[in-house]
This record gives sequence, structure tokens and C-alpha cells, in this order.
Amino acid sequence: MKNPVIQTPVLIVGGGSVGLATAIELGSRNIPCFVMEQSDRPAEHPRATALNARSMEFMRRWGLGDAIRAAAAPPDFPHTALYCTGLNGFEIAKVERPDHGGSRASSVSPEGAQRCNQIWTDPILRDGATSFDCVDLRFRWKFEALEQTDDLVRVTALDLARDERHVIEAQYVVDCTGAHTPIRRALGVALNGGEGMTYQVSAYVRAPNLWDHHAMGKAALINFVGPGGIWRNLVSLDGRQLYRFGLRGKEFYDNPEAIDVPKLFREVAGEKAPFEVISVGRWTARNVVADRYQVGRVFFAGDAAHLNHPASGLGLNTGLGDATNIGWKLAATLSGWGGAGLLPSYEAERRPIAARNVAHAERMNKNNRGQKPPAEIVDDTPEGAQARKDMGERIAAALKQKFVTDGLALAMQTGEDPAPPESISDYIPSTYPGVRAPHAWLSQDRSTLDLFGDGFTLLAFAQDNEPPARLQAAFAKRGVPLRVEALADPAVRALYERDFVLVRPDGHVAWRGDGAPADPLSIVDRLRGAA
Ligand SMILES: Cc1cc2nc3c(=O)[nH]c(=O)nc-3n(C[C@H](O)[C@H](O)[C@H](O)COP(=O)(O)OP(=O)(O)OC[C@H]3O[C@@H](n4cnc5c(N)ncnc54)[C@H](O)[C@@H]3O)c2cc1C
Repeated sequence: MKNPVIQTPVLIVGGGSVGLATAIELGSRNIPCFVMEQSDRPAEHPRATALNARSMEFMRRWGLGDAIRAAAAPPDFPHTALYCTGLNGFEIAKVERPDHGGSRASSVSPEGAQRCNQIWTDPILRDGATSFDCVDLRFRWKFEALEQTDDLVRVTALDLARDERHVIEAQYVVDCTGAHTPIRRALGVALNGGEGMTYQVSAYVRAPNLWDHHAMGKAALINFVGPGGIWRNLVSLDGRQLYRFGLRGKEFYDNPEAIDVPKLFREVAGEKAPFEVISVGRWTARNVVADRYQVGRVFFAGDAAHLNHPASGLGLNTGLGDATNIGWKLAATLSGWGGAGLLPSYEAERRPIAARNVAHAERMNKNNRGQKPPAEIVDDTPEGAQARKDMGERIAAALKQKFVTDGLALAMQTGEDPAPPESISDYIPSTYPGVRAPHAWLSQDRSTLDLFGDGFTLLAFAQDNEPPARLQAAFAKRGVPLRVEALADPAVRALYERDFVLVRPDGHVAWRGDGAPADPLSIVDRLRGAA
């Protein structure tokens, strides 16, 4: 018997981090969605570890911040990035990141960057997504084909467990199938951008208390430098015993089974440290962005839309930003108040962010690869010491931008001219329209950011009731949800720069002013994509 057609407002294809985050964004707004994932559980070979402060702010909004912190590296584990010739060799450069990790917030966010690998993050996102009755998540469902009309998208999928074919009719599809997306390819959208591809192998290794077997101290990211350059790294996954041991080179990629991982690991970690290799995987890295983020009723998000080298840890973080942008826009459209221009604004807003992040990853990767140490870099001689000092200084000059990207994480989104200055490493708070609204504590555990999420929020710092009343009337006329929050703290008023600041559901500033807007209806119409 033929299976009945499944109808859903939104079909999310791919239940990795970005698909699950998109489901949470929709589920939390009571928008039904169907998520299909071809595998039977979240991936078990480690990939992303670095969750930046913005991603942690999303986790906080989704009620998942505590779960991530509990699964992440212990609060006292240092997020140090180290360059050395080997754990029992010579140190070349070190950068400390005191604002990362720990259980306390950073000065510019109610959350701090955390180290929590996807092998733990994805199950937390999955539990978050399935906590909503309106999210229907199916594992072992494989997307096969898609066709769309002006009104809907028709997808064929195979239920791998039952070997049964299904048709799903959705008003919108979000392609979250990652780097090998069959959907973006089928729709003929190309990736473009950076030069070439690098070939990588990563071994998942257990090495308990590795730091007891060397004198370099604890570090989150360890890059090993040899006469050939920087070609191996060791990434701490849990701050305890688990690591991703990275090897770069086509010779490794082409023949992963032939790699003597224990030998290579001993070369960098020494003979005495006990360890076990859990699994070995291979992957390629490219710095590219999709030419389009939307084809008709289909949107691309996460690795399906952009790929970057993991230098600076931006892939997943950028993808979570995509999910929070498309999420509220789909919800607004399906709830009836989003205008015809709202969904197209997803590409207009998110593609430039991806282009910026991908370009940064490319620069940082080139910077790493461009380091050509002299042969004596590993020698215990005055010449060796000088080579290490020179290289250390060169690396240190570029390190901050590689490992500290608070500006890039928190000050995104372009808006009207003149834009405030942008910095990769340093975040400069602003309420310039388009940027993420700044964080300030309102009480011990309550941040300004905790006020945002459901609909639009108007922060009113002045007693004047006219501007809120006029905006409320205009929002009500168009059926757009708006909450007014009166705030009296002069320090928060100073940070927010204007008496009235209107914030979007995703926490980005929509409008600001010191008095009543002349034409509040035109503001609402612009913000809901109907201008
Ligand atoms: C070694 C490494 C280290 C990294 N480190 C970082 C880091 O520190 N920080 C960071 O931000 N990023 C990092 N990244 C990047 C990060 O892993 C990716 O950006 C992220 O996983 C993208 O998430 P996604 O949900 O878009 O795609 P994925 O996680 O790849 O999920 C896609 C999902 O779609 C499913 N799927 C595919 N095809 C189909 C189909 N036909 N039907 C149904 N389901 C399908 C797949 O099974 C998969 O579960 C790293 C990547 C690598 C490889």
C-alpha cells in the first residue's frame, strides 16, 4: 500500500547541528516541522569543538546553556593555544584566552565561549528539538529528490529502516545536509570563493592526563611545528582525556588505513604517555560560499551554504547563526505577518556574514601554512633557539585574530551607513541598526539578551509614553508581536545609546531613536519585509 503524503509547513533535511538548531527555532515558536536525518544517531567522530560566545547565547535562549557547559571542558581548563616542536620539545608561541571557557560570563556577553565537541553538542540539540511536540524528527530517513511549484515543495525520501518510500509536501524546505548536500547540487547552485582544497585526516584519541607526561602545561589547541611547517595538531575535546589528532597532507588523506597513527602520536606526545586510537576519519577543507542561499521555497543553511577551513573554528558557529536567522523569518511568514521580502532577506543578511567568516578562515589558514620554519627549528642549538624565537614572534603577531574572534562573533550584520568600525578580535558594543543588541546585566542572572526571542522587543529608557504607544499601535495594526520593556538603569541606557531601541526576535537591533518615529507603520512594514 502506498504511504499517505506527509504534509508539513517546514521540512528540514539533515539532522546535524544546524538542522537541529533550525528545528529548535521553529519548535520554540510553535511552528510544526519535519526533520529527516539519514543516519541513526548523531555523528561519533569528532568535528567542531569551539562554540563562540554568540553560539552560547543561542544555547542560553534555547535553555541548553547549562547542558553544554556540563558537557564542555571543565571550567578551569585553559583555552590556551600552543605552538611547539613537540610536547617534550621546545615551545614556540603561546596565546592565553582568559575570556574563553570557565563558568563565568565574559565582559561582553552573558555567556563565554566554550569547548564542547559536536559529539556532545548534537545530542543536546537533538533533545532540545524533540522537547517540542511540533518537531517530528526521523532518523534513518534519506532525502532522495525534490521538485517545487509556486506553492509547495514535494520531496521524496526513503525510510531506510523499513525500506519504504515517502512523499513529503512542505511549504518550505531548509537544506541542512552539510558539505555534501544533494539538494544544493540538484538545484544547480555552486560554491565559490577561496583557493584550493586541503586534505586532512583526524584521529580520535584517548590519552588520559596527557599533561602529566610533558612540561608544556594544559592547552586546548596544540600545533606542532617541524622543518616542513605546521602539519599536525592536537585539539583537546573534553579537557580531560579525549583529543582530535589532526594530520594534514594528501598522502595521509589518500591512504588513511596505511597511517601509523600510534607512531605519529608518539612523535609529538612522547614515548611514555599512554593512549588509545578510537577512530580515524578523513575530510577536506575549502573556503567557499554558495552563490545563492535560496531557490524558490528552498533555503540553504550551515555547511550546505558555506564551508571554511577550521582555522578559527567558524563553520558550526556561522551555521547556528543561519538557523537563528531563517528560523524567525519562516515562523513570521507562516504566522502570517512576514511580508514577501522577509524570507529573501535571509540570503541578503547571512551570505555576507559567511563571506566575511570564510575569508577570515582563509587568511588564518594561509597564515599557518605560510610559516616555513628553517631546518634548525627543532635543534637544541643557539641557531635553533633563534629560529623558534623568530617564528614565535611571527605567529604571535597573527595569533590573536586566529584564536580570539569576539568581534567577528558578536558584532555582525550590516545595516545603514555609516557602519561602526569592525574588528575581528575586539567587540565594540553598539546599537547601530543591524548589530546584535548589547549585553548588560539587569539583575544577577538576567541579561538584556534574555528579553529577546519571541517577537520584537522595544526597550524604552525614557518616561515618554508616546513613542512606545505609536509603535505598539503600528505593530498591532500589522499583527506583528511587540513587547515593551521599560528600563531605568542609566548605565544600560548609555550602552544602548538611544532612548528607544527596537530589537528583532533574533536579538539584532531593528531601529533606534530618541523620540517617536514619524511614520511607525513604515518601520513595521520594513522590518516585516513588506516595504
Ligand atoms: C575537523 C573539523 C573541525 C571543526 N571544528 C570546528 C570548530 O571548532 N568550530 C566550528 O564552528 N566549526 C568547526 N567545524 C565545522 C563544523 O563541523 C561544521 O560547520 C558543522 O558540522 C556544520 O553543521 P551542519 O549541520 O551544517 O552539517 P553536518 O554537521 O555535516 O550535518 C549534516 C547532516 O545531514 C545529513 N544528511 C546528509 N545528506 C542527507 C540526506 N540525503 N538525507 C538525510 N540526511 C542527510 C548528514 O547525515 C548529517 O547528519 C569543524 C569541522 C571539521 C571537519
